[in-house]
Amino acid sequence: MKQVPLFINGEWVDSKSTRTIDVTNPATQEVIAKVPCATKAEMTAAIESAKQTFKTWKEVPVPQRARVMMNYAYLLKKHQEEIAGIICEELGKTKEDAMGDVWRGIEVVEHAANIPSMMMGETVENVARNIDTYSYTQPLGVCVGITPFNFPAMIPLWMFPLAVACGNTFILKPSEQDPLTPTRLVELFEEAGAPKGVLQVVHGDKEQVDILLNEPEVKAISFVGSVGVGQYIYKTGTDNMKRVQAFLGAKNHMVVMPDANKDAVVNNIVGASVGAAGQRCMAISVAVFVGEAQKWIPEIQQKLASVRPGHYTDPEAAYGPQITPQAKVRIESLIAQGKKEGATCVLDGSGCEVPGFPNGNWVGPTMFTDVTEEMEIYKQEIFGPVFLTMNVDTLDDAIDLINRNPYGNGTSIFTSSGGSARKYQHNIEVGQVGINIPIPVPLPFFSFTGWKGSFAGDQHAYGKQAVKFYTETKTITSRWFDEETAASGPNMSITL
Ligand code: NAD
Repeated sequence: MKQVPLFINGEWVDSKSTRTIDVTNPATQEVIAKVPCATKAEMTAAIESAKQTFKTWKEVPVPQRARVMMNYAYLLKKHQEEIAGIICEELGKTKEDAMGDVWRGIEVVEHAANIPSMMMGETVENVARNIDTYSYTQPLGVCVGITPFNFPAMIPLWMFPLAVACGNTFILKPSEQDPLTPTRLVELFEEAGAPKGVLQVVHGDKEQVDILLNEPEVKAISFVGSVGVGQYIYKTGTDNMKRVQAFLGAKNHMVVMPDANKDAVVNNIVGASVGAAGQRCMAISVAVFVGEAQKWIPEIQQKLASVRPGHYTDPEAAYGPQITPQAKVRIESLIAQGKKEGATCVLDGSGCEVPGFPNGNWVGPTMFTDVTEEMEIYKQEIFGPVFLTMNVDTLDDAIDLINRNPYGNGTSIFTSSGGSARKYQHNIEVGQVGINIPIPVPLPFFSFTGWKGSFAGDQHAYGKQAVKFYTETKTITSRWFDEETAASGPNMSITL
């Protein structure tokens, strides 16, 4: 059985750990690899190598660092299909969706190739007579990324290319559920010319994350994952005086106005709710119908019923399996609880079977109407292909409802009214808003700006905010004497 290697000081090494976790194909339960939980000594070696390499990497000229990113983007494009194939095997995404997972990561790498202009500081000449002030952005040191299972290419690529382009070294702790994709990403990074020791990969779970959280050499931590884990990482990391950005769970709403284009509403809801088996932090899991718009609900139900999950080799499959049998059990128990709590289950995907794949973690498209705020299916992030509908009378009611929700990752409004769209974008307390766009994930020259319970920290992923997160500003106030200025007497006040 293949054991996933660690990447320490530029070498792929087999861990000496006796504790391993199975990596399984979620469509078949076949164990495709074993991922080791790195030993204390291996963790120390990775941290030490990152610390030592920082001393030399930060001195590499910025255009040279940018060139590594250019090569890397090229290599990722060349290997996009191959990487997507690994995602299909270990996570079960459809081919098209897996290609998208890689592509959205490539876009961040392309963005990281612009690092010289993104790292520019500020200058003001003559802040006082003969005195100039200017600032530089300098890297922090060793940075860490802890990533979730659901985008094994895109999310690691949100993190290490920008951190490394800024001059930091980086330790990646990928999800133990699909570590083969990040392994391939890192091999290609090496091939792109990243020097030995700039990027390390360690594997494991809480035990290995705790070592990183408590390591004084680690200056910043980027985390993406579930709420409880992210809050723990944020609290522990900041208690240890590190910078932390933590991207957490979500419950994303779409508002449907009666003046929206009906066909667009129906098609977009189907894709955004159950696409990727609902395993997206930006999935639309609740639609809020305003007034007459609720008459479209039966058509959405009909369209959702025509969608089915399947294996990635089946071109008709709309989405793949859930990541684990436990995830499937959890989703099915939430469906059962929704029924018990009085929501109307108009489409039930429990007990779903896919011919030829009896052991897959399949959940069929599921839809509830008559959902209320008190129900568990509304309160919890289900992270499965389960779509909820709610009805309100006015746009203001929809805004109030969504603003009461503790999460704030993404939202969208479907309407043909500029006035309604403007009111919504201005008043909604959610960090990423789509207008007739169901999943408004910003491209990398913006930042991924989830709010409220969906984020802890202040600087977000990619874009200018990530450059701020991965750098420190140094401000220099400078004066050069000539004979006349040097001769002026002592200055006893704090004014310049
Ligand atoms: P998870 O929290 O289980 O795991 C994320 C990472 O944390 C993994 O690397 C895992 O090994 C590690 N981890 C798990 N338990 C830990 C613990 N007790 N202590 C320290 N580290 C621990 O998340 P997941 O199931 O892999 O991913 C799904 C979640 O990620 C969903 O909640 C989803 O909404 C969220 N997510 C959020 C965003 C966003 O941008 N807000 C993006 C993608 C996914």
